[in-house]
Amino acid sequence: MLFIIDEILENMVREDKRYFSPHYIISVAANQGENLSLKQVTEYLLSLVPAKLRVYYEVECPNGDSDFAIDSPHQKLDEFKICHICNTEYMPSLDRVWVSFDFTPEYRAYIKKKRVVPKVRRDLLLI
Ligand SMILES: [Zn+2]
Repeated sequence: MLFIIDEILENMVREDKRYFSPHYIISVAANQGENLSLKQVTEYLLSLVPAKLRVYYEVECPNGDSDFAIDSPHQKLDEFKICHICNTEYMPSLDRVWVSFDFTPEYRAYIKKKRVVPKVRRDLLLI
């Protein structure tokens, strides 16, 4: 059932979508009648790094701004920061890290070259 994610990702490349969160995938899947959990989707997307996807971790300030990026969700955060958007001083927390993804240029190029198989109407097949 996670195969639906591959399909969603391919469509997103065709629509030139960039930088997306696992929540986006969950909502697209939900529109297609699949209920996926955040953990499932995040783990699956992480398994596509680095071949198909790049991953970004962004630390959020107490006011919900995406303040700065870190390389790993295990990075030590022990310095006070001043948010570049709202100027609030705060202690960054790993509980407030947003995960986002983007497609690698290689994957984008591959999908764009791939031929889209036209959908055939089912009633035409039954003739
Ligand atoms: Zn802020």
